[in-house]
Amino acid sequence: MNELAVTVVGAGQAGLSAAYHLRRAGLAPWADYQVLDHAPAPGGAWQFRWPTLTYGRVHGMFPLPGSELPDADPLRPSAEVVGEYFARYEREHGLPVRRPVAVHAVREAGGGLLRVESDAGAWLTRTLVNATGTWRRPFWPRVTGQESFAGRQLHTADYSGPEEFRGRRVVVVGGGTSAVQHLLELDGVAARTLWVTRRVPRFRAEPFDREQGRAAVAMVAERVERGLPPQSVVSVTGLPMSEAMRDARRRGVLDRRPMFERMAPEGVRWADGELFEADVVLWATGFRPAIDHLAPLRLRETGGGIRMDGTAAVRDRRIQLVGYGPSASTIGANRAGRAAAREVRRLLAGETRPAAEPEPLPERTGDHSPEQLKVPQTAAS
Ligand SMILES: Cc1cc2nc3c(=O)[nH]c(=O)nc-3n(C[C@H](O)[C@H](O)[C@H](O)COP(=O)(O)OP(=O)(O)OC[C@H]3O[C@@H](n4cnc5c(N)ncnc54)[C@H](O)[C@@H]3O)c2cc1C
Repeated sequence: MNELAVTVVGAGQAGLSAAYHLRRAGLAPWADYQVLDHAPAPGGAWQFRWPTLTYGRVHGMFPLPGSELPDADPLRPSAEVVGEYFARYEREHGLPVRRPVAVHAVREAGGGLLRVESDAGAWLTRTLVNATGTWRRPFWPRVTGQESFAGRQLHTADYSGPEEFRGRRVVVVGGGTSAVQHLLELDGVAARTLWVTRRVPRFRAEPFDREQGRAAVAMVAERVERGLPPQSVVSVTGLPMSEAMRDARRRGVLDRRPMFERMAPEGVRWADGELFEADVVLWATGFRPAIDHLAPLRLRETGGGIRMDGTAAVRDRRIQLVGYGPSASTIGANRAGRAAAREVRRLLAGETRPAAEPEPLPERTGDHSPEQLKVPQTAAS
């Protein structure tokens, strides 16, 4: 069986950044390291995003390391533009991406090695950079009576634009920017929309400054350092206000109702008995890290998350997590890719750090916000 120094799982922004820095660090593509990616084509999760999410709406995106953002038509779907950009990047930097390869499990193989098992075979590797994002794990809250609802339920991950909801009554659930984006697109197409969130959304008029950005990232970093699941930053940063949002608010499109108590065949119902009749419930309730394949390594703490020290998993420093928690944004993914490559190099060179003693963890207190960390400065994130 082939033995590699590093295996990167996932070829989104985080995985490609790690691959780029590994190459710069002198690792040989294919011989020393490879990238395994489940997606059929370059582009990471971007390739699956809905066609009406145009490139002009994702200006919060950062370029991959050592490259410029494409100068593309803002009206083209970001899925296409980013897909082409990532494909060019992989080619120009000679990155060893193998696809489509779905990694099912990563296990201890003994002798300091890890065994990476996939639908395309298995590899032995000394270290692993996990960059699998969240798109493959949409989060659906459970609500009483959900199965009885006679209409359609779908998640942001299944949304392909407003047209199929023409003339429908749509409930959009979730307090993040995806929900807002859906409501703006459905406005004037759907017969009616209703926005439902657990917490009162906070809109932010001013642009997001560096200090606030750092504070939000630090908040999420602090949680993952304690082994808690990463949490939304929208509650801290607020929803960035665009001109389209201002206009929508004036027209009542963004009037929000608290979360309903149950679902009924004909719609959603609040505790006081009030019913909103609906044809569709669109769950814009975020995503969870797609890390089930790491389960055999038992990296999770009792708090439910993986305790991190920089990009390294504290329970097994051979595992780097990039695009996870505080690095779940395009800028964060870039930085984490570089840090992970540095950490991997150190490990391969035999430098060790004293193992961090796991600290006692606080009890988990309920569920966390369904929204994953998103880049706050864009209306599209
Ligand atoms: C709707 C939406 C809009 C956004 N807009 C912005 C924005 O404007 N600006 C911004 O900075 N951020 C934005 N974000 C966040 C941004 O997408 C992410 O932070 C970043 O692009 C994620 O990169 P990633 O490499 O971590 O993950 P991904 O892009 O999800 O890549 C992960 C890759 O891993 C692969 N993979 C997953 N599991 C496996 C497995 N088991 N085996 C093999 N391969 C696997 C996937 O197929 C995928 O190719 C947005 C997010 C959403 C949901």
